[in-house]
This record gives sequence, structure tokens and C-alpha cells, in this order.
Amino acid sequence: MDKFLLFTPGPVNVAANLRMAISSEDICHREADFDNLLGSIEDKLLSLFQIEKRNRYRTVVITGSGTAANEAMLSSVVGGGQILVLSNGEFGERLHKTSLIHNAGTHLIEMPWGEAFDLARVEAYLDAHKIDVIAMVHHETCSGMLNPLIGIGALAKAHQALFIVDGVSSVGAERVDMEQCNIAFCSSSSSKAIGAYPGLSIVIGRKEQFEKLRHHKAKTTYLNLATFYGFLKSRSQTPNTPAIPLFFALEQALSNVLQEGVENRFAAIRRRAEKLRCGMRNLNLRFLIDEKDMCCVLTTVCVPKSLNVSNLRRRLRASSIIIYEGKGCFKDKVFQVGNIGEISDGDIAFFLITLRDVLLASREDRNVPAVPVRGATSAAKPFGMFDQAALPVAI
Ligand SMILES: *Cc1c(COP(=O)(O)O)cnc(C)c1O
Repeated sequence: MDKFLLFTPGPVNVAANLRMAISSEDICHREADFDNLLGSIEDKLLSLFQIEKRNRYRTVVITGSGTAANEAMLSSVVGGGQILVLSNGEFGERLHKTSLIHNAGTHLIEMPWGEAFDLARVEAYLDAHKIDVIAMVHHETCSGMLNPLIGIGALAKAHQALFIVDGVSSVGAERVDMEQCNIAFCSSSSSKAIGAYPGLSIVIGRKEQFEKLRHHKAKTTYLNLATFYGFLKSRSQTPNTPAIPLFFALEQALSNVLQEGVENRFAAIRRRAEKLRCGMRNLNLRFLIDEKDMCCVLTTVCVPKSLNVSNLRRRLRASSIIIYEGKGCFKDKVFQVGNIGEISDGDIAFFLITLRDVLLASREDRNVPAVPVRGATSAAKPFGMFDQAALPVAI
């Protein structure tokens, strides 16, 4: 099979040593071998989160993708209380939908996809309603927007609400400061910026809050965080049979991050994003949101008028490059280019050259007359081989 370059926000191209790790020994999850493996994963996750007061936090690992960790939080933390979900995109909407299943007291503040939250509006809502839990996506993957953890965390603290965060697509690429942002629980997944295979997810939380979960009536069996915490605490195990090979691979992925250094990893991902963005700007493409609001994990690009986005995806795929098309209200309007996982500078250069060729070819297909490049500057032209002339003007 061809090797695909996954320019997606996950799953990602994994490091070579994960392929070795996933085929480690067969072990039993009720033996010390697994206790040690899970202990090591937990330890490394605390390092990834740069937790200083390490005895204040614990991390459970769930066999199930990121959605499982989100549903575990939403079904385990609220009890009979009131939860306010903040949504400005596809994944915020999913948090809301999931919460409605488990929590009768579900509230929603909704913004159009890709628009930032108005903190004053959130504050006014909290003043007017007794809210016990606030839930928000950190990186809203559908638009690429990074939502304000510090601001919402401060509001949560001032209103004595627990703050729970969907960090599925940001953890491993952006700092999530549990202490500073007053986060009680944060979810993530193995297969995005952490760089491992899909299939595992995590919930990191304050020990004190984990302890309180047993007072709530269970709403699910498999995803009950109180049960996960009980097994973790008493024997460093999981309640049910875990996907053990994936645990070996996750452990290796976390070792890779720590060996590189957490800050170095964040910086490397950001540098790759900047390279891609610079290259795409030079192709006269425009982005959905301001670069200052973007997470460093991916770039959401507006589809130029002359372009059919499915054709673009298929043509890139013919060169083994995989990108995402927009979904929901962004369908046909945007495409997304991720830069997490094992992507080299050479891969980025190859992507940009291929994208340029595909854009030129699609213009010829449609016989669009050549137009002058708007906003092209002589500065920032990192890839000398680029012919900047006569690309279709974005939107
Ligand atoms: C991908 C993603 C999810 C869902 O994760 P799965 O692994 O597909 O279940 C949830 N939230 C965010 C922000 C995501 O990007």
C-alpha cells in the first residue's frame, strides 16, 4: 500500500518506534506488567501537562477514541446539577448533544462556527443562572480556533463552577495549564497531537474532584469516570480489558515527546504550521480565521471560487497527500491542512509544490482567465521554486 502523508488533524503518521512498540509482548491487564505500563503512561502524561504539583492530579486512560473521554466527563461530573456548554463549532455542538443525553440541566451558549466567545455574555449568563459545571472545547477543530481557557477558567472560579475542557485536538501541541486555567478535568486522545495510534483517550483531573465523583449516581457503565478512578487508585489498572498494544504505543509516543522536550515539541509543531501558512499565503490562499486566533495544529483555508474542493482532495490524494474537507456549514467553503504527527520539512515543501500544481491545473480545467495576484509581496517567499504568477485569487 502507498504511504500516505496525513496532513489531517488526526489520525497522524506515527513515529517508526511506535510500530515496534505496538507489537510488544503479550501481557495480562491484571498483572504487574500492566500496572507498570499504566503507571508509566500516567507519569508521562503529568509531564506532558507540565504539572508541578504532581500529587494533585491523576489521569485515567480509556479504550475508546476522544469522544469516549468527552462522554465520560459529561456523564460523570455533573450529577444532578446544571451544566453550561459553550459552543462555537462542530465539537462544541457535540459536547452539547452528549450532555443533553446525560444531564437534564444542560444550558447552551452558542456562537456561529468560527466566531469567538463573548466573555461578557458568558459572565452575564453565569450571574443570572446557578451553573455547576462549564464545558468548552479548547481547540475547536472545525475552524482551527483556540478558545480562551484562561478567561473562561477565571469566570468558572468566580462563579464556583467546575471547568471541564475538551482538549482532544490541542493537548500535545498547545499548553493546557490545569492550575492557571482552573480546569477540573480535561480530555484528550492518543491520535492527534500526542502522535500515537487512534483508539485511546485520556481524562486528566484534580484528585480532589475525582474523589467526589463516587457521590454521583452512575449514568453509564463503561464510561463512568468514578470506576476508572477507583481501579487506577487501588491497582493502577482499568475497569475493563484495555487495548494493551495501543497502551504500549501511547507510552512510546509520550516518551518521544518527553525526549524531545515538551516546549520543543510545541515549538516544532508551531514552526511547521507557520511554514505551511507562509507557503499557502504565497499561493494567494486565504484563511478562515485570523492567524492570531489559530491553534498550531491545523490551518483552515477558504476554498477559492474557481475550485471544487472534492477535486482538490482527490488530486492531492493521487500524490499521497491527505487533507480534510470542511463539514457542516463549512462544507465546500473550506479545506483543512493539519501539521501534527511525523511530518518533515521535506513533506511540507512537497505538499506546497503539489498544492500549487493542483491549483494551477484546476484553473486550466475551468479555463479561468489568469488574474493578477492580489496582495503578493516580494517578501516571504521561502520556496524558491514557486512560480507565484497567475494563481486563482482566493474567494
Ligand atoms: C477529533 C475530536 C473529537 C473526537 O475525537 P474522536 O477521537 O474522533 O472520537 C472531539 N473533540 C475535538 C475537539 C476533536 O478534534
